[in-house]
Amino acid sequence: MGEVVIRRVRTVLTAPEGITLVVVKVETSEPGLYGLGCGTFTQHAEAVKTVLDRELGPWAEGRPVARIADFWQTAAVSGYWRNGPVLNAALSGIDMALWDIKGKMAQMPCYELWGGKCRDAVALYRHADGTSMEAVGDQVEAWLEAGYRYVRCQWGGYGGALPGDGRPRFRSARVHTPDRAAPGRYFDPDDYRRRVPQLFRYLRERFGADVELLHDVHERLAPVDAVRLAEALAPYDLFFLEDALAPEDLGWFSLLRQRSSIPLAMGELFVHPLEWEKLFEARLIDYIRVHLSQIGGVTPALRLAAHAGAYGVRTAWHGPGDVSPIGHVANLHLDLVLPNFGIQEWAGWSERSEAVFPGCPVVKGGYAYVNDKPGWGIDLDEAEAEKFPPALGLPEWTLVRLPDGTAARP
Ligand code: MG
Repeated sequence: MGEVVIRRVRTVLTAPEGITLVVVKVETSEPGLYGLGCGTFTQHAEAVKTVLDRELGPWAEGRPVARIADFWQTAAVSGYWRNGPVLNAALSGIDMALWDIKGKMAQMPCYELWGGKCRDAVALYRHADGTSMEAVGDQVEAWLEAGYRYVRCQWGGYGGALPGDGRPRFRSARVHTPDRAAPGRYFDPDDYRRRVPQLFRYLRERFGADVELLHDVHERLAPVDAVRLAEALAPYDLFFLEDALAPEDLGWFSLLRQRSSIPLAMGELFVHPLEWEKLFEARLIDYIRVHLSQIGGVTPALRLAAHAGAYGVRTAWHGPGDVSPIGHVANLHLDLVLPNFGIQEWAGWSERSEAVFPGCPVVKGGYAYVNDKPGWGIDLDEAEAEKFPPALGLPEWTLVRLPDGTAARP
């Protein structure tokens, strides 16, 4: 085999679960040899596709598939301005596909390329929510019965928003909107902050120490209120508190750290290395949970993980529904080899996704198992993918308001 080069980069948008996924297929000069990557940025999927189809893809053609590090480095600065989420997602799609190709050429799963397994399977956390404490508890019980040991618990949606009657939606009893309030999701940060500790007291009384409990603030509180919430949660022995502060409020982490020993997980919105660097060096967080496609793929994730490990920070890659099964598999291959793996978020999927992506990992007893085929070991059935056209347009859940109608962070 002579030098294998990139022949074509193709972008496939599909939504088997109703959430638009950006799948990148890199075809090579070697007949039948291709790689798959996840470039999902659901909210701006068309923008990512345009970058891939019109700019980065044609630019990549003819480049050797073997030189992943060089490709990443040159592509990341190819537009001079860099580190933005759209470019990072496009870059991630090609980067992951090149690792898939590397594994196929070596006839090894990607985890073998990075030193082999540190563990045989990956521990997962699931999500439980409900409109009452009892309903949340029932969902926790269902996950425990299914074999999971880690559950993230939310009373209502993010920010504690509860279903209301009519519009505006998700209005809690305390939300009194002014006349002509805009449609959208409303929440009351004070009500949320007071209710969350009640939920965890209830859950600990019901389940004792049999479950690891997690909670996601989703960067919804004012910084000082996040500090107060962390203090109030101290008695309930959380596994970690997720995104307690927004990236814009990173300067508050030192106060949060001084006031609470609750383990802190941060970073699903990060796109730039400077966002995590200072947090590691000052020992301000315990888990880094970036979204692989939003930092540019697996190549920067390997560097990030090594950097985190030097400071005692463990990984907890973002694993929601707006990551394709290819992206989830990339998360899992990293989880298998990283000495400083912490925990993996798991959104789950239906048989529709399994038909679109043959070779999906298997989940059993709270652990995810990947197969041992070369590369990612997962494929794309394009005819199946076509059955689920993308749902384009901005989602409703990102439009969130405070009780008086002020726009808030989602
Ligand atoms: Mg989160």
